[in-house]
Amino acid sequence: MVRPKKYLGQHFLKDQNIAAKIVEALQLTQRSVVLEIGPGTGVLTGLLMQRPEVDLYLSEIDRESVAYLKEHFASLREKIFEGDFIKLDMSQIAPGKIHIIGNFPYNISSQIFFQILNHHEKVDQVVCMLQKEVADRLAEKEGSKTYGILSVLLQTFYTIESKFKVPPGVFHPPPKVMSAVIRLVRNHRKQLPCEESLFRKVVKQAFQNRRKTLRNALKPLNLPGSVLLSPFMDKRAEQLSVENFISLTTEIEMQRGADY
Ligand code: SAH
Repeated sequence: MVRPKKYLGQHFLKDQNIAAKIVEALQLTQRSVVLEIGPGTGVLTGLLMQRPEVDLYLSEIDRESVAYLKEHFASLREKIFEGDFIKLDMSQIAPGKIHIIGNFPYNISSQIFFQILNHHEKVDQVVCMLQKEVADRLAEKEGSKTYGILSVLLQTFYTIESKFKVPPGVFHPPPKVMSAVIRLVRNHRKQLPCEESLFRKVVKQAFQNRRKTLRNALKPLNLPGSVLLSPFMDKRAEQLSVENFISLTTEIEMQRGADY
């Protein structure tokens, strides 16, 4: 057995029915590369291996779990990336698109999503369990107090569906919070009409001071004077939709170009 390590966010799922529901939430129409993040002792892994359309790879940081997985799932031995998912170069997994599944380590779920965003051209679908409060926030729309940086950045490229809630009692050890399973599916947006790095910067800066109007919140970005006249400047970050943030960034980029 693997002894659960708190610093790695290890809460092992004990309930086979819930594990089956998570694995079923992954929708595949053809044989596909699937990367499981944090397989631990393999409660999802075993079920994923029973699906003929799944070409499975694993990313696991815990050496003890990796040893356990190699022993119990010998056919995956060469397909385990031992180490930190945040540092994994996903292009080395396989050419083409991949799908991600996992009961995420809750302490690093935001970093996992930023890593996925860095590869949004490659990652087609994500099915994951995470802290319910975080899951709800990701799917929020503008106008909500909990709409934030990752809601905007993820919804730019993914449609987010809430699947179901999971109570603490089905884990060993039980976490202190409710959990939820969500599914992200790549939407049809290809390239943004503006630089993606500037887009991220604008969104992050806007939410850094979410109670201020954008005119004040975005001061550190030294916006071109003409942009300060934009009607968006009188609003706060949480009032802007994804489309609004894209328009605003495009405006900034064009005006900067014009000023130089
Ligand atoms: N899938 C298992 C374990 C979930 S707990 C289950 O449902 O029972 C989260 C898992 O993520 C643990 O196995 C932990 O070791 C792993 N993990 C934690 N940080 C990680 C990281 N940075 N990269 C990859 N895996 C990580």
